Amino acid sequence: MINLFSDTQTKPSAAMRKAMLEAEVGDEQRGEDPTVNELCERVADLLGKEAAVFLPSGTMCNEIALLVHCRPGDEILCDRTSHILNYEAGGPAALAGAVMTPIDGERGIYSAEQLKAAIRPEHRYGPRTRVVEIENTANMGGGRIWPMQTLNAVTDVAKENGLIVHLDGARLMNAVVASEISAKDYAAGSDTAWIDFSKGLGAPVGAALAGSKDFIEEAWRWKQRLGGAMRQAGIIAAAGLYSLDHHIPLLAADNENAKIFAERIANSTRFAIDPTTVDTNIVIFELANGEDAQVFCNRLEIEAGVRIGAIGPSTLRAVTHLDVNKKSVVAAAELLLLMS
Ligand SMILES: *Cc1c(COP(=O)(O)O)cnc(C)c1O
Repeated sequence: MINLFSDTQTKPSAAMRKAMLEAEVGDEQRGEDPTVNELCERVADLLGKEAAVFLPSGTMCNEIALLVHCRPGDEILCDRTSHILNYEAGGPAALAGAVMTPIDGERGIYSAEQLKAAIRPEHRYGPRTRVVEIENTANMGGGRIWPMQTLNAVTDVAKENGLIVHLDGARLMNAVVASEISAKDYAAGSDTAWIDFSKGLGAPVGAALAGSKDFIEEAWRWKQRLGGAMRQAGIIAAAGLYSLDHHIPLLAADNENAKIFAERIANSTRFAIDPTTVDTNIVIFELANGEDAQVFCNRLEIEAGVRIGAIGPSTLRAVTHLDVNKKSVVAAAELLLLMS
């Protein structure tokens, strides 16, 4: 089986498990776990923020950040394809009580002009626009990287309008490796930002959310309240540290392999994909002749042993990661091309 379903499907390597086994631990929620503390310092530093908090998932990073930033009735502006709007079970509405207003960006990326047009003037009839949310890379945009110029223009408009900027950096390190722009530079215009250890970085669990000291204090209150405060969490934080130490450069191969996959399948008119749009490790493509994506995926898995995802009626998504090398990715593309 060649598994290109998601970069969340990686299994921790023997070396990562060894690091977990040997981790120094303590009571995390009392601030006494040295491995968690080290990981938080590393991530705060990486993202150029004062402090960070370790959380069980990226979803909890988004939800807690939005809980701190919003009061009920406040408005979050985000791209229509964003994770917070589509894949967090309505969390920002259910938990923060926030209204999410989608902006129709281009493959996950909207412009400063679009943002400007979406910001509501202060008026007691409307929800109060509070947060601007950015996803970099844009997952459902096909792993698209925000161009620095667009990003700066958007965060400038947010600042001019007194809005808070939150960066969903689940796959920010894929963008860093592909563009050679630092995570700190990508996060500079954001008040809060986070990275996931359980995506391309290959850890089994965990994410870390960064921001000002005051913000992290408030985030801790929600972590406690939601049951995200842990005990000897150094066991899992060690995997995060290991991934930062060893796996960041490996993301370059994931990005290259995704491009190779896209180039190969573009040779068939059955698949509609422009390989030049593949910025990082996600390939979103269409079945050009109206075939059903889920049926195709099921057949591909059973008949060819390749697993990818159906994300729309005729839309497919393949994601490269640590546990598939170039040879497997090329083989997977060949198997797609051979499907009857
Ligand atoms: C996966 C993902 C999340 C959520 O992260 P989990 O660790 O799975 O909870 C949030 N945003 C984006 C863009 C993602 O791809």
